[in-house]
Amino acid sequence: MEVTNDNSCGWINDLIPRINIKSLQSNEDCDWLIIGAGYTGLSAARKLGQLYSNQKIILADAQLAGEGASSRNSGYLVDTTLNDGFTSNKEIENYKKKADIYDLGINVVKKFINEHQVDCDWNECGKYFASSKLKDKKILLNFSNTLSKLGFEHNLLFKNELYKRLGTSFYNIALHTKGGILLHPGKLVRAMIDILPRNVCLYENSFLLNWNKNKDIITCNFKNGKINTKKIIFATNGFLKSLGIKSNYNFPITLTASMTRSLTDEEFKSIGEPKEWGVLPVRPMGATIRMTKDRRILIRNTAEVCSPFKMSKSILEKRSINQKIGIKKRFPQLPNDIIQSSWSGIVSRTRNSSQIFEKIDNNIFVAGCYNGSGIGVGTLFGEQIAIKASNEKTKEIETIEAKNEPTWLPPQPFLNIGIKTRLMYERFRAFSDV
Ligand SMILES: Cc1cc2nc3c(=O)[nH]c(=O)nc-3n(C[C@H](O)[C@H](O)[C@H](O)COP(=O)(O)OP(=O)(O)OC[C@H]3O[C@@H](n4cnc5c(N)ncnc54)[C@H](O)[C@@H]3O)c2cc1C
Repeated sequence: MEVTNDNSCGWINDLIPRINIKSLQSNEDCDWLIIGAGYTGLSAARKLGQLYSNQKIILADAQLAGEGASSRNSGYLVDTTLNDGFTSNKEIENYKKKADIYDLGINVVKKFINEHQVDCDWNECGKYFASSKLKDKKILLNFSNTLSKLGFEHNLLFKNELYKRLGTSFYNIALHTKGGILLHPGKLVRAMIDILPRNVCLYENSFLLNWNKNKDIITCNFKNGKINTKKIIFATNGFLKSLGIKSNYNFPITLTASMTRSLTDEEFKSIGEPKEWGVLPVRPMGATIRMTKDRRILIRNTAEVCSPFKMSKSILEKRSINQKIGIKKRFPQLPNDIIQSSWSGIVSRTRNSSQIFEKIDNNIFVAGCYNGSGIGVGTLFGEQIAIKASNEKTKEIETIEAKNEPTWLPPQPFLNIGIKTRLMYERFRAFSDV
């Protein structure tokens, strides 16, 4: 088994290919092993490297580091969400717990980019929760009420203003929140790889087949070798279930996204030369759509149950056609053939949108399940799970652990039937805004 990704992600293809890739080719012993080198695993490795300069730390990934969901996302570093997954916690107390975690997530990414002078197209332009349906005003007013109680600056906007700001007359209503950042996810995760401490050994294209614990040693079997470790952190997010970790609490969902080439001057003029913006849907299965700093349009409008290990080329092509239609609906004046890249990525979901941050056994830790908001929360959870695994306490850990625990999921085949039915229902509800 391998994690096989398409190689058509626009964010990844913007970057210079890396060199000096090492894979595990023998048996090794170490003090710390981290499985999964996305935001979570890289942040855990960075923190452990700082804390234990004399210990042996290995970070292993089944593919090239950072080239899973961490490079394949839409690049919204969020302070608030209306829907995370299909659900949203509307009670103020729970919403606040979630927002407190998002806030810590933004701060930790900000600190990282300031400390390492990272250029990741950071733009504190906020975000729009937008709908083509005026009747969604009710949902937005309720949301506005929650945001006001918690002190988040926002305002409600209507068609004419939205047309000026976004360059499309598709949306009739939106709530703009001042907080929230748009960034280039590939550049961010690449910076995390580039600055890994020297005492972290990174093995890529090294797929963990299985693992077991015997007394105080955890043995991990890879295709070309095994690693014996004293402590382990699982940071495989959408692949936690396939490794048998918290299997009754998380499940993978495959998302697909497409990005256009940069619009020409003429095309850009035809849509009113808007500044960079990001729209999130009011209904869970509507489209996330973004105008990037370099005038590309990114759209994500699918979420489905699929093998997390691979999406076939033909399915990806079908999703790309969907996304072409999504762009055309919003920007009918643009040519049909401007999509330059389409890709898929895996996220992890829980039933009640609560993340996983836990010690699951002696010396075995796990962090993941960000329900689509992993840029900030993954970076935060990665650093903090490393600290928790060192038996230390922080204010951040207290805030994280105040969250609700993920709720139990039914076994297969009931789980997949349930998820597919729910996705179908949400797709129907969001039909016009896909
Ligand atoms: C299309 C899309 C849009 C998204 N949009 C946003 C957004 O706008 N904002 C936001 O905050 N989040 C968004 N997300 C979610 C976000 O990308 C994830 O939450 C985040 O990347 C999780 O980071 P991670 O490090 O935990 O997991 P990942 O980046 O998924 O990394 C896990 C790693 O584990 C490795 N792995 C898995 N199994 C094994 C194994 N057996 N052996 C070794 N290695 C293994 C994988 O290869 C992978 O590299 C989006 C995701 C997608 C796919």
